[in-house]
Amino acid sequence: VLPTIYAITPTYKRAVQKAELTRLSNTFRLIPQFHWIVVEDSNARTELVSRFLAHSGLQCTHLHVPTPRRYKRPGMHRATEQRNAALDWLRMHRSSKNPGVVFFADDDNTYSVELFEEMRWTRKVSVWPVGLVGGGRYERPLVDKGRVVGWYTGWNANRPFPIDMAGFAVNLQVVLENPKAMFKRQGSKPGMQESDFLKQITKVEELEPRAANCTKVLVWHTRTEKVNLGNERWRDSIHIEV
Ligand code: UDP
Ligand code: MN
Repeated sequence: VLPTIYAITPTYKRAVQKAELTRLSNTFRLIPQFHWIVVEDSNARTELVSRFLAHSGLQCTHLHVPTPRRYKRPGMHRATEQRNAALDWLRMHRSSKNPGVVFFADDDNTYSVELFEEMRWTRKVSVWPVGLVGGGRYERPLVDKGRVVGWYTGWNANRPFPIDMAGFAVNLQVVLENPKAMFKRQGSKPGMQESDFLKQITKVEELEPRAANCTKVLVWHTRTEKVNLGNERWRDSIHIEV
């Protein structure tokens, strides 16, 4: 059987939210054996996201957890609590009987369909390049004889795993076998979310390079411009969800 791909997407309310989710779901619909875990950064599940997922045609789990106010500041890591909530859900609802792969799919990135077939047969942790990240055109693991031997990265190459959230996937069994592995805020420095997490479950020597020995970009760390709502002067007579 094909291992299920569990994509974990933290998301929060803003003008572009539905557009982002639409772009994502249109890609995800093309992926067989796919399960979308959407975690809203909110006090409750919103109607917009609930309705959206119900009509998406995707196998979905819809969770929510609010980021504590003190962490909603510039420079703070984003979506720590949401990713952890998804990991908790997997540990509660999946077991050694469920072949799967876990991937952290932020709502604003761009994913090629090919990427998901690259990650599907991950044994422990697989890695690949990410485009448009780290202040350069791409970042990637350097590979020699099928092993990761270093990193091409724009900044702080001394991080244990200088890799973006979109640059790796983890076998579901590794998540289940390491029940305490989580994203942390305590003691975590800027840009260290990925390293702090990966350190708990793997070693560089074990990483499985994908995407033609990490020479192909199949995911892009795109960021969506903040929308200008400054021209919205009137009130329409009907309410339209955007
Ligand atoms: N996010 C969130 N709450 C926030 C800010 C961001 O849940 O207050 C989510 C966002 O929807 C995305 C992920 O966290 O899926 C990463 O955020 P963002 O894309 O803004 O981070 P960056 O691209 O700057 O790393
Ligand atoms: Mn982003």
